[in-house]
Amino acid sequence: MKNVSSGQIAFTVSSILALLTFLLSGVLFVLSGDFYKILALFLIPIVVYALSYLLLKYFIDKFIYRKIKLIYKTIHSLKTAKSKVQPLELNADLLEGVEKEVIEWSKGKTQEIQQLKDISRFRKEFIGNVSHELKTPIFAIQGYLHTLIDGGLEDDKINKNYLYKASKNLDRLNKIVEDLDVINRFETNTLVLEKQKFDIVELIKDVFDSLEMQADLKDIVLKFKDPENSPKYVKADKEQIRQVMVNLLSNSIKYGKEEGQTLVGIYDMDENYLVEITDNGIGIAEDNLDRLFERFFRVDKSRARDMGGTGLGLAIVKHIIEAHGQVINVRSKIGVGSTFGFTLKKV
Ligand code: ADP
Repeated sequence: MKNVSSGQIAFTVSSILALLTFLLSGVLFVLSGDFYKILALFLIPIVVYALSYLLLKYFIDKFIYRKIKLIYKTIHSLKTAKSKVQPLELNADLLEGVEKEVIEWSKGKTQEIQQLKDISRFRKEFIGNVSHELKTPIFAIQGYLHTLIDGGLEDDKINKNYLYKASKNLDRLNKIVEDLDVINRFETNTLVLEKQKFDIVELIKDVFDSLEMQADLKDIVLKFKDPENSPKYVKADKEQIRQVMVNLLSNSIKYGKEEGQTLVGIYDMDENYLVEITDNGIGIAEDNLDRLFERFFRVDKSRARDMGGTGLGLAIVKHIIEAHGQVINVRSKIGVGSTFGFTLKKV
Protein backbone atom coordinates (compact mmCIF):
# COMPACT_ATOMS: atom_id res chain seq x y z
CA MET A 1 0.00 0.00 0.00
CA LYS A 2 2.99 2.27 0.62
CA ASN A 3 3.69 3.24 -3.01
CA VAL A 4 0.11 3.37 -4.33
CA SER A 5 -0.77 6.59 -6.13
CA SER A 6 -4.19 8.23 -6.27
CA GLY A 7 -4.37 7.31 -10.02
CA GLN A 8 -3.84 3.65 -9.20
CA ILE A 9 -6.54 3.68 -6.51
CA ALA A 10 -8.99 5.42 -8.88
CA PHE A 11 -8.08 2.99 -11.68
CA THR A 12 -8.67 -0.09 -9.51
CA VAL A 13 -11.94 1.08 -8.00
CA SER A 14 -13.38 2.32 -11.30
CA SER A 15 -12.31 -0.91 -13.05
CA ILE A 16 -14.19 -2.91 -10.42
CA LEU A 17 -17.23 -0.65 -10.89
CA ALA A 18 -17.00 -0.96 -14.69
CA LEU A 19 -16.74 -4.75 -14.42
CA LEU A 20 -19.78 -4.91 -12.16
CA THR A 21 -21.71 -2.66 -14.58
CA PHE A 22 -20.59 -4.85 -17.46
CA LEU A 23 -21.87 -7.97 -15.69
CA LEU A 24 -25.14 -6.19 -14.88
CA SER A 25 -25.56 -5.04 -18.51
CA GLY A 26 -24.71 -8.58 -19.64
CA VAL A 27 -27.54 -9.96 -17.52
CA LEU A 28 -29.89 -7.33 -19.06
CA PHE A 29 -28.72 -8.29 -22.56
CA VAL A 30 -29.34 -11.98 -21.99
CA LEU A 31 -32.79 -11.23 -20.66
CA SER A 32 -33.94 -8.90 -23.48
CA GLY A 33 -31.65 -9.15 -26.57
CA ASP A 34 -32.59 -5.63 -27.48
CA PHE A 35 -30.15 -3.52 -29.72
CA TYR A 36 -30.02 -0.62 -27.26
CA LYS A 37 -29.28 -2.94 -24.46
CA ILE A 38 -26.44 -4.47 -26.50
CA LEU A 39 -25.16 -0.90 -26.79
CA ALA A 40 -25.61 -0.49 -23.08
CA LEU A 41 -23.54 -3.58 -22.54
CA PHE A 42 -20.44 -1.74 -23.86
CA LEU A 43 -21.34 1.87 -23.42
CA ILE A 44 -22.54 1.96 -19.84
CA PRO A 45 -19.43 0.26 -18.37
CA ILE A 46 -17.18 2.63 -20.37
CA VAL A 47 -19.09 5.69 -19.19
CA VAL A 48 -19.19 4.37 -15.60
CA TYR A 49 -15.47 3.64 -15.78
CA ALA A 50 -14.54 7.06 -17.13
CA LEU A 51 -16.77 9.00 -14.78
CA SER A 52 -15.88 7.07 -11.66
CA TYR A 53 -12.16 7.22 -12.54
CA LEU A 54 -12.23 11.00 -12.94
CA LEU A 55 -14.38 11.61 -9.89
CA LEU A 56 -12.44 9.27 -7.66
CA LYS A 57 -9.06 10.62 -8.74
CA TYR A 58 -10.25 14.18 -8.25
CA PHE A 59 -11.59 13.61 -4.73
CA ILE A 60 -8.73 11.42 -3.58
CA ASP A 61 -6.17 13.93 -4.88
CA LYS A 62 -8.01 16.81 -3.31
CA PHE A 63 -8.38 15.06 0.02
CA ILE A 64 -4.77 13.77 0.23
CA TYR A 65 -3.36 16.98 -1.16
CA ARG A 66 -5.15 19.04 1.47
CA LYS A 67 -4.03 16.83 4.32
CA ILE A 68 -0.44 16.53 3.14
CA LYS A 69 -0.13 20.20 2.40
CA LEU A 70 -1.24 20.89 5.94
CA ILE A 71 1.41 18.52 7.32
CA TYR A 72 4.10 20.14 5.15
CA LYS A 73 2.99 23.62 6.12
CA THR A 74 3.06 22.76 9.82
CA ILE A 75 6.50 21.11 9.62
CA HIS A 76 8.06 23.79 7.46
CA SER A 77 6.68 26.71 9.42
CA LEU A 78 8.18 25.12 12.54
CA LYS A 79 11.52 24.59 10.84
CA THR A 80 14.01 27.40 10.22
CA ALA A 81 12.66 30.62 8.79
CA LYS A 82 14.75 30.07 5.66
CA SER A 83 13.19 26.76 4.57
CA LYS A 84 10.45 27.16 2.02
CA VAL A 85 7.54 24.84 1.26
CA GLN A 86 8.22 23.25 -2.10
CA PRO A 87 5.20 22.96 -4.44
CA LEU A 88 3.71 19.48 -3.96
CA GLU A 89 3.72 16.92 -6.78
CA LEU A 90 1.13 14.24 -6.20
CA ASN A 91 2.85 11.01 -7.18
CA ALA A 92 3.63 7.55 -5.82
CA ASP A 93 6.60 8.76 -3.73
CA LEU A 94 4.74 11.61 -2.07
CA LEU A 95 3.43 9.70 0.93
CA GLU A 96 6.80 8.07 1.45
CA GLY A 97 8.41 11.51 1.25
CA VAL A 98 6.00 12.92 3.81
CA GLU A 99 6.64 9.97 6.10
CA LYS A 100 10.41 10.55 5.87
CA GLU A 101 10.07 14.27 6.49
CA VAL A 102 7.83 13.72 9.50
CA ILE A 103 10.28 11.17 10.97
CA GLU A 104 13.25 13.50 10.38
CA TRP A 105 11.34 16.43 11.82
CA SER A 106 10.33 14.51 14.93
CA LYS A 107 13.93 13.27 15.41
CA GLY A 108 15.15 16.88 15.23
CA LYS A 109 12.50 17.98 17.70
CA THR A 110 13.38 15.16 20.12
CA GLN A 111 17.04 16.22 20.00
CA GLU A 112 16.11 19.86 20.54
CA ILE A 113 13.92 18.96 23.52
CA GLN A 114 16.77 16.88 25.00
CA GLN A 115 19.19 19.79 24.53
CA LEU A 116 16.78 22.19 26.21
CA LYS A 117 16.31 19.75 29.09
CA ASP A 118 20.11 19.44 29.45
CA ILE A 119 20.53 23.22 29.42
CA SER A 120 17.80 23.63 32.00
CA ARG A 121 19.34 20.92 34.25
CA PHE A 122 22.76 22.47 33.77
CA ARG A 123 21.45 25.91 34.72
CA LYS A 124 19.76 24.58 37.87
CA GLU A 125 22.94 22.74 38.87
CA PHE A 126 25.00 25.82 38.14
CA ILE A 127 22.85 28.10 40.29
CA GLY A 128 23.00 25.50 43.07
CA ASN A 129 26.79 25.33 42.76
CA VAL A 130 27.23 29.12 42.73
CA SER A 131 25.12 29.64 45.82
CA HIS A 132 26.92 26.79 47.59
CA GLU A 133 30.35 28.18 46.66
CA LEU A 134 29.38 31.68 47.81
CA LYS A 135 27.82 30.45 51.03
CA THR A 136 31.03 28.84 52.30
CA PRO A 137 33.12 32.04 52.60
CA ILE A 138 30.08 34.17 53.56
CA PHE A 139 29.27 31.89 56.53
CA ALA A 140 32.92 31.95 57.57
CA ILE A 141 33.06 35.77 57.45
CA GLN A 142 29.77 35.97 59.39
CA GLY A 143 31.16 33.66 62.06
CA TYR A 144 34.39 35.60 62.53
CA LEU A 145 32.67 39.01 62.58
CA HIS A 146 29.93 37.94 64.99
CA THR A 147 32.50 36.49 67.37
CA LEU A 148 34.45 39.76 67.22
CA ILE A 149 31.30 41.84 67.81
CA ASP A 150 30.25 39.63 70.72
CA GLY A 151 33.40 40.52 72.67
CA GLY A 152 36.15 38.94 70.60
CA LEU A 153 37.40 42.36 69.58
CA GLU A 154 38.76 42.91 73.10
CA ASP A 155 40.43 39.50 73.15
CA ASP A 156 43.98 39.99 71.90
CA LYS A 157 44.39 36.24 71.34
CA ILE A 158 41.84 36.11 68.56
CA ASN A 159 41.01 39.61 67.30
CA LYS A 160 43.80 39.99 64.70
CA ASN A 161 43.65 36.36 63.68
CA TYR A 162 39.87 36.47 63.10
CA LEU A 163 40.11 39.70 61.12
CA TYR A 164 42.85 38.13 59.00
CA LYS A 165 40.71 35.02 58.41
CA ALA A 166 37.66 37.13 57.53
CA SER A 167 39.70 39.10 55.01
CA LYS A 168 41.08 35.84 53.50
CA ASN A 169 37.52 34.64 52.99
CA LEU A 170 36.62 37.96 51.39
CA ASP A 171 39.52 37.47 48.96
CA ARG A 172 38.15 34.05 48.14
CA LEU A 173 34.67 35.47 47.59
CA ASN A 174 36.16 38.09 45.30
CA LYS A 175 38.09 35.46 43.33
CA ILE A 176 34.94 33.38 42.77
CA VAL A 177 33.01 36.42 41.52
CA GLU A 178 35.89 37.48 39.25
CA ASP A 179 36.21 33.97 37.78
CA LEU A 180 32.46 33.79 37.23
CA ASP A 181 32.59 37.13 35.49
CA VAL A 182 35.33 35.87 33.11
CA ILE A 183 33.31 32.73 32.31
CA ASN A 184 30.20 34.80 31.77
CA ARG A 185 32.06 37.08 29.35
CA PHE A 186 33.26 34.08 27.36
CA GLU A 187 29.81 32.53 27.29
CA THR A 188 28.12 35.73 26.16
CA ASN A 189 30.90 36.42 23.64
CA THR A 190 31.60 39.81 25.17
CA LEU A 191 35.27 39.07 25.78
CA VAL A 192 37.21 40.19 22.74
CA LEU A 193 40.56 38.51 22.14
CA GLU A 194 43.48 40.79 21.42
CA LYS A 195 45.70 38.58 19.32
CA GLN A 196 49.34 39.47 18.79
CA LYS A 197 52.61 37.80 17.85
CA PHE A 198 54.71 36.79 20.87
CA ASP A 199 57.28 34.27 22.01
CA ILE A 200 55.54 31.55 24.02
CA VAL A 201 58.88 30.44 25.56
CA GLU A 202 59.42 33.92 26.96
CA LEU A 203 55.90 34.03 28.39
CA ILE A 204 56.30 30.64 30.08
CA LYS A 205 59.61 31.79 31.66
CA ASP A 206 57.71 34.81 33.06
CA VAL A 207 55.06 32.56 34.56
CA PHE A 208 57.73 30.25 36.01
CA ASP A 209 59.18 33.31 37.78
CA SER A 210 55.82 34.46 39.12
CA LEU A 211 55.08 31.00 40.57
CA GLU A 212 58.54 30.35 41.97
CA MET A 213 57.57 31.09 45.57
CA GLN A 214 54.49 28.85 45.41
CA ALA A 215 56.61 26.05 43.90
CA ASP A 216 59.39 26.48 46.46
CA LEU A 217 56.94 25.90 49.30
CA LYS A 218 56.59 22.30 48.05
CA ASP A 219 60.10 22.00 46.66
CA ILE A 220 58.72 21.57 43.19
CA VAL A 221 60.92 22.38 40.20
CA LEU A 222 59.33 24.11 37.20
CA LYS A 223 61.34 23.68 33.99
CA PHE A 224 61.30 23.15 30.24
CA LYS A 225 61.57 19.64 28.85
CA ASP A 226 63.97 20.91 26.20
CA PRO A 227 66.68 23.00 27.89
CA GLU A 228 67.54 24.70 24.59
CA ASN A 229 64.48 27.00 24.67
CA SER A 230 64.79 28.72 21.30
CA PRO A 231 62.04 31.36 20.75
CA LYS A 232 58.75 30.03 19.42
CA TYR A 233 56.34 32.59 18.04
CA VAL A 234 52.58 32.20 18.23
CA LYS A 235 49.59 34.38 17.41
CA ALA A 236 47.23 34.62 20.37
CA ASP A 237 45.94 36.87 23.15
CA LYS A 238 49.07 37.04 25.31
CA GLU A 239 47.36 37.90 28.60
CA GLN A 240 44.75 35.18 28.18
CA ILE A 241 47.46 32.60 27.41
CA ARG A 242 49.37 33.83 30.46
CA GLN A 243 46.19 33.06 32.47
CA VAL A 244 46.09 29.56 30.93
CA MET A 245 49.72 28.93 31.90
CA VAL A 246 49.21 30.34 35.43
CA ASN A 247 46.16 28.11 36.00
CA LEU A 248 47.79 24.95 34.63
CA LEU A 249 51.15 25.47 36.31
CA SER A 250 49.66 26.43 39.68
CA ASN A 251 47.44 23.31 39.50
CA SER A 252 50.58 21.25 38.81
CA ILE A 253 52.00 22.68 42.05
CA LYS A 254 48.76 22.42 44.08
CA TYR A 255 48.21 18.79 43.07
CA GLY A 256 51.90 17.96 42.66
CA LYS A 257 53.86 15.99 45.22
CA GLU A 258 56.56 17.45 47.49
CA GLU A 259 59.96 17.58 45.77
CA GLY A 260 58.29 16.82 42.51
CA GLN A 261 58.71 18.49 39.15
CA THR A 262 56.64 20.10 36.40
CA LEU A 263 57.94 19.90 32.86
CA VAL A 264 56.78 22.06 29.98
CA GLY A 265 57.30 20.73 26.48
CA ILE A 266 56.63 22.65 23.25
CA TYR A 267 56.21 20.59 20.10
CA ASP A 268 56.09 21.69 16.47
CA MET A 269 52.92 20.44 14.74
CA ASP A 270 52.84 21.96 11.22
CA GLU A 271 50.51 24.93 11.67
CA ASN A 272 50.46 24.82 15.48
CA TYR A 273 52.61 24.41 18.53
CA LEU A 274 51.49 21.89 21.13
CA VAL A 275 52.27 23.03 24.68
CA GLU A 276 52.28 20.25 27.28
CA ILE A 277 52.47 20.67 31.06
CA THR A 278 53.39 17.43 32.82
CA ASP A 279 53.52 16.92 36.58
CA ASN A 280 54.33 13.87 38.67
CA GLY A 281 51.65 14.63 41.24
CA ILE A 282 48.56 12.86 42.60
CA GLY A 283 47.02 12.27 39.15
CA ILE A 284 43.32 12.05 38.25
CA ALA A 285 41.19 8.90 37.96
CA GLU A 286 40.06 8.00 34.42
CA ASP A 287 36.37 8.38 35.43
CA ASN A 288 36.89 12.04 36.34
CA LEU A 289 38.73 13.12 33.21
CA ASP A 290 35.53 13.76 31.18
CA ARG A 291 34.15 16.23 33.71
CA LEU A 292 37.41 17.95 34.61
CA PHE A 293 36.75 21.09 32.56
CA GLU A 294 33.22 21.59 33.94
CA ARG A 295 32.55 24.61 36.14
CA PHE A 296 33.04 23.83 39.85
CA PHE A 297 34.12 20.26 39.20
CA ARG A 298 36.71 19.09 41.69
CA VAL A 299 38.03 15.59 42.25
CA ASP A 300 38.42 16.09 45.98
CA LYS A 301 36.16 18.97 46.97
CA SER A 302 37.40 19.78 50.46
CA ARG A 303 41.07 19.32 49.55
CA ALA A 304 40.75 21.59 46.50
CA ARG A 305 38.89 24.24 48.51
CA ASP A 306 41.51 24.17 51.26
CA MET A 307 44.07 24.99 48.61
CA GLY A 308 42.12 28.10 47.72
CA GLY A 309 40.80 26.84 44.39
CA THR A 310 37.46 28.05 43.04
CA GLY A 311 36.91 25.01 40.82
CA LEU A 312 36.64 27.38 37.86
CA GLY A 313 40.28 27.46 36.74
CA LEU A 314 40.09 24.67 34.18
CA ALA A 315 36.71 25.86 32.86
CA ILE A 316 38.34 29.24 32.17
CA VAL A 317 41.37 27.57 30.54
CA LYS A 318 39.10 25.61 28.22
CA HIS A 319 37.11 28.73 27.29
CA ILE A 320 40.29 30.64 26.46
CA ILE A 321 41.77 27.88 24.30
CA GLU A 322 38.49 27.26 22.47
CA ALA A 323 37.98 30.99 21.87
CA HIS A 324 41.30 30.81 19.99
CA GLY A 325 39.86 27.99 17.87
CA GLN A 326 42.36 25.57 19.45
CA VAL A 327 42.03 22.42 21.53
CA ILE A 328 42.95 21.28 25.03
CA ASN A 329 43.21 17.75 26.36
CA VAL A 330 44.36 15.87 29.42
CA ARG A 331 46.01 12.52 30.15
CA SER A 332 46.45 11.33 33.69
CA LYS A 333 47.12 8.37 35.91
CA ILE A 334 46.44 8.20 39.62
CA GLY A 335 49.68 8.33 41.59
CA VAL A 336 51.77 8.90 38.46
CA GLY A 337 50.82 12.40 37.35
CA SER A 338 48.95 14.45 34.76
CA THR A 339 49.67 16.04 31.40
CA PHE A 340 47.58 18.95 30.12
CA GLY A 341 48.19 19.84 26.47
CA PHE A 342 46.86 22.68 24.30
CA THR A 343 47.62 23.98 20.84
CA LEU A 344 48.42 27.51 19.63
CA LYS A 345 48.69 28.93 16.12
CA LYS A 346 52.25 29.35 14.88
CA VAL A 347 53.46 32.51 13.11
P1 ADP B 1 40.53 24.26 41.46
O1 ADP B 1 40.35 25.70 41.72
O2 ADP B 1 39.74 23.38 42.36
O3 ADP B 1 41.97 23.86 41.34
P2 ADP B 1 40.38 23.72 38.61
O4 ADP B 1 39.25 23.97 37.66
O5 ADP B 1 41.68 24.38 38.33
O6 ADP B 1 39.81 24.08 40.04
O7 ADP B 1 40.61 22.17 38.68
C1 ADP B 1 39.50 21.31 38.88
C2 ADP B 1 39.92 20.04 39.60
O8 ADP B 1 40.77 19.27 38.74
C3 ADP B 1 40.77 20.28 40.84
O9 ADP B 1 39.94 20.51 41.96
C4 ADP B 1 41.55 18.99 40.94
O10 ADP B 1 40.76 18.01 41.60
C5 ADP B 1 41.73 18.57 39.49
N1 ADP B 1 43.06 18.91 38.95
C6 ADP B 1 43.37 19.98 38.18
N2 ADP B 1 44.67 19.97 37.82
C7 ADP B 1 45.19 18.86 38.36
C8 ADP B 1 46.51 18.27 38.35
N3 ADP B 1 47.52 18.83 37.70
N4 ADP B 1 46.67 17.09 39.02
C9 ADP B 1 45.65 16.52 39.67
N5 ADP B 1 44.38 17.02 39.72
C10 ADP B 1 44.17 18.17 39.09
